[in-house]
Amino acid sequence: MYLDLHCHTIASDGCLTPTALIKKAKRLGLFYLAKTDHDNVDLMDEFLAAGKKYGLHAIPGMEISSRYLGKSLHIVALGVDYKSLKIKWYEEKCRAARKIRGLKMAAKLQKIGWQIKKSELNKTLLARPHIAFSVINHKQNKKRLLKEFGAIPNFSTFIKKYLAKGCPCFVPKKFYLQPLPSIKMIHSAGGLAIIGHPMSKTPEFSYGKEHLLKIIKKFPFDGVEAYGPENTPRETNYLLGLAKKYHLLISVGSDYHGYDQEFPLGVKYHGKLITASMCAELIKKLS
Ligand SMILES: [Zn+2]
Ligand SMILES: [Zn+2]
Repeated sequence: MYLDLHCHTIASDGCLTPTALIKKAKRLGLFYLAKTDHDNVDLMDEFLAAGKKYGLHAIPGMEISSRYLGKSLHIVALGVDYKSLKIKWYEEKCRAARKIRGLKMAAKLQKIGWQIKKSELNKTLLARPHIAFSVINHKQNKKRLLKEFGAIPNFSTFIKKYLAKGCPCFVPKKFYLQPLPSIKMIHSAGGLAIIGHPMSKTPEFSYGKEHLLKIIKKFPFDGVEAYGPENTPRETNYLLGLAKKYHLLISVGSDYHGYDQEFPLGVKYHGKLITASMCAELIKKLS
């Protein structure tokens, strides 16, 4: 039985609906699948219903954007009671902060001449992909987009040029929950707290072994994503060793966003998809 416990949908910056994600997982032969959108549990009912319909074990989750010592620390919550009041509180805090930030970024884009429809700014969810889409889809931007990008860009290309850290219209995030309160919140909602993509190669997330050890020693994490698409087999072995030494559950996450050329759904180790028996302890706790 194959599994993937870290996936995004249109509820955050993924491009598939929860139903489309489940169908895709089914086609690949996955059995356990977790939806872990950034800082929200939107569309979870749809995800769980689709899991039931297509015969997959769908696990409710969320990826919390925390920070530690100047680095982003992404915490994957698995098996959370997504209707719990604490989770709702957190979601609302993030949503409000994201909206303010989104409006600031949109204003910066408009200031340098990009057109954005007012109706787009009134939407409740206003994260960077949504802002990028509203620019890309506005007819009056077409000429300039073609001139600057050579073709109509996809949203991540646009973000990389205008809305990523260090870019002209970037606005930093203001609301973060620290790692310990994040873990406590996950536990109070009955979930497990997993260190997400510990071997990420993106500068903002890449910890290095020393930083990772600090995180493991300092906070009461339940597990670590030992299997991930960015890990070399050597790194995976290192993480498996850490999990054993520090009594952490072993998890697996592709961080799939719906783009197959990026990190495809389902994680491989030595060319083979990860099976549930390789994460047996975790699966036992989630079942
Ligand atoms: Zn992440
Ligand atoms: Zn993720």
